[in-house]
Amino acid sequence: MVDCHILLLTFPAQGAINPSIQLAKNLIRMGVKVTIITTLSAHSRMTKSNSTIPKGLSISAFSNGYDDGFKEGDNYEHFMSELRIRGSRAIAELIKASAEESYPITYLVYTTAQPWVAEVAHGHHIPSAVLWTQPATVFDIFHYYFNGYGDTNRKIVNDPSSSIQLPGLPLLNSRDLPSILVPPHSEKYRWAFLSMKEQLDLISTETNPKILVNTFDAIEPEALRAMKKHNLIPIGPLIAPSDASFNGDLFKKSHGYVEWLNSKPISSVVYVSFGSIAVLSKQQMEAIARGLLESHRPFMWVIRAKVNGEREEDKLSCLEELGQEGLIVPWCSQVEVLSHPSVGCFLTHCGWNSSLESLVSGVPVVGFPQLLDQMTNAKLLQDVWKMGLRVVANEEGIVDNKEISRCIEMVMGGGEREREMRGNAKKWKELAWEAMKDGGSLDMNLKAFVDALGDGH
Ligand code: UDP
Repeated sequence: MVDCHILLLTFPAQGAINPSIQLAKNLIRMGVKVTIITTLSAHSRMTKSNSTIPKGLSISAFSNGYDDGFKEGDNYEHFMSELRIRGSRAIAELIKASAEESYPITYLVYTTAQPWVAEVAHGHHIPSAVLWTQPATVFDIFHYYFNGYGDTNRKIVNDPSSSIQLPGLPLLNSRDLPSILVPPHSEKYRWAFLSMKEQLDLISTETNPKILVNTFDAIEPEALRAMKKHNLIPIGPLIAPSDASFNGDLFKKSHGYVEWLNSKPISSVVYVSFGSIAVLSKQQMEAIARGLLESHRPFMWVIRAKVNGEREEDKLSCLEELGQEGLIVPWCSQVEVLSHPSVGCFLTHCGWNSSLESLVSGVPVVGFPQLLDQMTNAKLLQDVWKMGLRVVANEEGIVDNKEISRCIEMVMGGGEREREMRGNAKKWKELAWEAMKDGGSLDMNLKAFVDALGDGH
């Protein structure tokens, strides 16, 4: 057992919860004591699926005043400021209590853009590291933006036909940038922009900051090395094994989807999911539904039961028709679904966890990004890893039914392009498993990080 107790602050969102649990699991395996601290809402989602909590992991929960989670219409600024105020207090109390027990907290880790945790750590003379839950490419883009390239960035935003070549990154245009750098999201999600700025500013002032990135070397070799000043440590892919994906309170009910998938031919099913946050308009849902029906392939579509008190399915006028061709479920064990041989294509919002899960499962994608880093992730999937296509919206900002079925056809239709994407997806899958195997890069890099903690760094 390494003489170290890591406290891991997990932002209360699915995209942060999943990699945090996997990181904790790997650290515990290496003999480190780990406590996750998070909000009551995130805690209750975690514990409703007991099988996903690794043995030996302690979880401490505090109220940030949003015990039923964040809802559309709630005030983001207030949510974030309460998280910070009440979270700082809860962490300080835990540090104090643990010092009186046999396992004092010796290190703090926090998920992306919660730099206030580093301040608390600093105040208690405890070192800290960030768990970056987006690709290294996105870290680099933000770093460049806040360190000298802001003007060039603004230029490409104002002229969508121009592009920017940043050291170590693919050629980017405005639709490839994290949405909080581009209007209208730069205004709407100003709080996210400011948190990111604070995070990057903090890292710039730290000596030898530790940045643990949920990625692996084979997919982002240049982005991982592009920062001269910062050492990005790839400790991914942090993916739940397919029998234990965390998926909230619906974990145990399979809604018959496993049996349904079993009944379909190999690589025939289009799996559709937009993650845990994105909310689609009625018009967009209808267009997706039509596109799926017109592609004449079996599909499994995750439509969350209720979003902001409203039934998502009620946005669809053709539910009966959809039920004849495909299967709609409110939630599933996504890693399990993606690793099912019947699944041949993933229509995804390109959240970073979903992107990594498609890589690990070797499933080509139709990328339909909505916000934040998803724009950049879609770019990587299409143009760098060449294992998918990204949809193009019409002038009204809607991706219409024809575009949906066109992209599905390109990925599933048996042409040269499909062969290329499928071949690449298979290659990334092999490299991802290489990184995750015993003694692979995940083990080696995390072990080096843990050993350095033991040495007091
Ligand atoms: N997920 C799941 N079941 C579903 C939909 C999503 O288990 O029906 C998981 C998915 O496997 C991923 C996470 O939820 O690990 C979503 O994270 P991601 O970063 O892809 O998107 P976000 O929800 O943060 O937008």
